[in-house]
Amino acid sequence: MSISTEDAEAVEPARSPAATPTEAQIAAARDAINAKLTYAVGKNAVTASDRDWFVATALAVRDRMVDPWIASSKATYAEGRKRVYYLSLEFLIGRLLFDAMNNLGLTEAFRAALGDLGVDMERLRTVEPDAALGNGGLGRLAACFMDSMASLSIPAYGYGIRYDHGLFRQVVKGGWQQEYPETWLSFGNPWQFERPEVVYDIQFGGSVEAIMTPSGVARYVWHAAETIEAVPYDTPIPGWRGRHVNTLRLWSARAVDPLRLDAFNSGDHIGALVEQVRAETISKILYPSDESAAGQELRLRQEYFFVSASLQDLIHRHTRTYGDIRSLPDKVAIQLNDTHPAISVAELMRILVDLREIPWDEAWDITVRTLGYTNHTLLPEALETWPVPLLERLLPRQMQIIYLVNAIHLEKAKKLPESNDRFLSSVSLIDENNGRRVRMGHLAFIGSHSINGVSALHSDLVKKTIFHDLDLVYPGRVNNKTNGITFRRWLHEANPGLTRILVDTCGPEILDDATVLDRLEPRVGDTALHDAFGAVRRNNKVALAKLIRDRLDIRVNPNALFDVQIKRIHEYKRQLLNILETIALYQAMRAQPHKEWVPRVKIFAGKAAASYHQAKLIIKLANDVAQVVNSDPTVRDLLKVVFLPNYNVSLAEMIIPAADLSEQISTAGMEASGTGNMKLALNGALTIGTLDGANVEIHERVGDDNIFIFGLTTEEVAARRAAGIDAGDTIAKSRMLADVLEAIESGIFSPGEPGRFAALTTALRHHDYFLVTADFDSYYAAQRDVDALWLDRAAWWKASLLNTARVGWFSSDRTIAEYAKEIWNVPVRPAG
Ligand SMILES: *Cc1c(COP(=O)(O)O)cnc(C)c1O
Repeated sequence: MSISTEDAEAVEPARSPAATPTEAQIAAARDAINAKLTYAVGKNAVTASDRDWFVATALAVRDRMVDPWIASSKATYAEGRKRVYYLSLEFLIGRLLFDAMNNLGLTEAFRAALGDLGVDMERLRTVEPDAALGNGGLGRLAACFMDSMASLSIPAYGYGIRYDHGLFRQVVKGGWQQEYPETWLSFGNPWQFERPEVVYDIQFGGSVEAIMTPSGVARYVWHAAETIEAVPYDTPIPGWRGRHVNTLRLWSARAVDPLRLDAFNSGDHIGALVEQVRAETISKILYPSDESAAGQELRLRQEYFFVSASLQDLIHRHTRTYGDIRSLPDKVAIQLNDTHPAISVAELMRILVDLREIPWDEAWDITVRTLGYTNHTLLPEALETWPVPLLERLLPRQMQIIYLVNAIHLEKAKKLPESNDRFLSSVSLIDENNGRRVRMGHLAFIGSHSINGVSALHSDLVKKTIFHDLDLVYPGRVNNKTNGITFRRWLHEANPGLTRILVDTCGPEILDDATVLDRLEPRVGDTALHDAFGAVRRNNKVALAKLIRDRLDIRVNPNALFDVQIKRIHEYKRQLLNILETIALYQAMRAQPHKEWVPRVKIFAGKAAASYHQAKLIIKLANDVAQVVNSDPTVRDLLKVVFLPNYNVSLAEMIIPAADLSEQISTAGMEASGTGNMKLALNGALTIGTLDGANVEIHERVGDDNIFIFGLTTEEVAARRAAGIDAGDTIAKSRMLADVLEAIESGIFSPGEPGRFAALTTALRHHDYFLVTADFDSYYAAQRDVDALWLDRAAWWKASLLNTARVGWFSSDRTIAEYAKEIWNVPVRPAG
């Protein structure tokens, strides 16, 4: 039973801010869609379903990319331009239809054309499944980078795996997360081009033979035990205004022989397919392992599979064009997105030394000059290491190469004045402390000319902590490239209403150049502009309220403050802190229901890794608190709690334009950058956050008055942990916090089962590693500052406008321009 003061009324979707199309453009789009519906889908307008219309439309849009795609490739060859290869085990793409239409300037022509055909284009939006080939921020970054590389006309390929099943579909049942396989390909994929003619052999296992050559140098021949095939599927990625189109090439695994005919004919129908199943397993699923390494052998097979296929492919392309492999670093830059593709170091060396017969030192020089490595995490559990015996068995020659690389590297390290046993064991590629494991982060570091972190604070910590000693051996390699987001998706497409205001206020250049947003500055006190911003935000909130009602049957008031925390569920991201504050607020409202409270809707969304029990318990707690709060008539117009299931890119696009407050409350020093923080600030949400990751740089840019910073700093976190993480004293000092914990432990939120959340409360009380309790009071106080500002409407809107005005720097166009100049050495052409 839930009542709200206002019903969620339907709103018209805002039009894209692009120019009005001509009749001829609309007619051409109409004809193209009709032709696809007839000749590619095989349906007519009478029998066509929304899915048929979606496929016809997507194919018509794809046609518009092909000519510029081929032209981009031709120009790259003709001009001998250097190419960038972005190797990433994850690409969290989302839907492509509106993205592609937007970049090609086709949105309004196609909307009108479909309207003529009796189809509402907005309805087609939700027919397209999300391509969720990533876990979270890291995968989404790769997708934003693909957009920016194309928009800056950088010739680039993204290389990854075409998982049959992307990130699991989250269902919340009785408050608990359940995981189901996601089936994005079950109705085909209109964006992809299969390239069955381009196939590479990928090998595993077997042994290595050393052959003495007449010159007395040993040559190594790998006799692999197993071969599978990698087949590419290409998706064209059009940049802004369609000037340049790049390729996302995703590899699918298949067996060399589809079945064993002898076994089949002798009646063993299942056994005949065993090899096929074993091979195809490699591209079957994405590991749902955000921030922690999946220890499975299959994961290593996936990593080597896509690295080997990608290196073979790019070297084939390079040598076909330039003949000589030695010019690789001049014409190719390979960026390793985290350690997942780190085996590239050994594999490239193997190709150069064993297959191309380049002397070791020269091969090493080529390797280091070609590779760059991006570090995404300092969490020890997320830094990949592989057991030496596993590598020896699966990739015997690569393991030999790693040993040799390590021997030469340790010789170099020994010459340093800092060198001693501790130092050498810390820089070694082999971790001898945990049963001999290869440190993939170290391998990527040693084999790359550039190692970058993803925010100023994170890069600083990379240098001071995990790679402190390696940085002494190879000084000057560590650098920073603060993450960014593509404004095309996260502003223009997700929030067309706001974009239109920005075009009207700052000029149409805003669409090409994010830095032009600062033209908003002189007008941030303008009440007419506040009203326009307010109207757009309200429309977006009404649309989100409708979604919440449809999916959860909860009614929320669009006039309330929408307080949003959307990201993977992880203890370091501290959804728990937010829930504790929610409970405290709830208790305060119940105690004084007639005080002037700011009405709030607490919105949570996010997935927990399937095996991460604490995170799943946090989801349960959020849902149980929601149950109690939402059905309590005392707070009915003041507080609502909502957990929206199955967080993905499309849901983010609905929530972000409707957010008033952005929760970025990680334990300082633990969030590498964050990009959700940027998306929300860009759309005018104010941030409540710690000095962590890119929050630090957002704070610098938006200014003290336009953000709510609270909590321990990175240094204070370290000091606090050193002093012990039992929270007995902290809790004893905070009446409110003690009450909240007691409420949870009393079973108010888990009637009949007071012990349900014991694993959470015990951790909070006795080993609060994430310092939730230590930051609770300052967080609660910061939330009351939020309330105070909210009540001053003009001040709130001014701060909101200043957020949008001052975060242009967080465009991934800026990030990619920095990679291009400082790591890849490739020219860029501004997006406009
Ligand atoms: C941006 C984004 C993320 C990253 O969010 P953070 O708050 O930076 O952790 C994760 N998932 C999706 C779907 C996103 O769009």
